[in-house]
Amino acid sequence: MNNLTDKTFCLVTRSGIEMWLTPEEADLVKGIMRSGTGRAVEVDGELINLTDVVAVLTAQRADEYHKLKRGLWLCKYDEWHTKNQTCECAEARRYENHI
Ligand SMILES: [Zn+2]
Repeated sequence: MNNLTDKTFCLVTRSGIEMWLTPEEADLVKGIMRSGTGRAVEVDGELINLTDVVAVLTAQRADEYHKLKRGLWLCKYDEWHTKNQTCECAEARRYENHI
């Protein structure tokens, strides 16, 4: 089994299935998708239908995607807030600047 820390790309399918890929696996998937030479790819013994793949995300983008899916939102101050939380970053920044 691959070390999980090697899996730095997140493949997302239309139905919401996610698979973590190594950079090599991500390159393989992206290469096949770009060239259009295949309709499916096998990763870790699982077969992925490439016509169902919505995105291959970096770990950072995947993290943002997961937060958005959980209902979190990113304010203009680059802070994540929960769905019902009001952004008070402006007040917080103003306070910090006056210390
Ligand atoms: Zn905020």
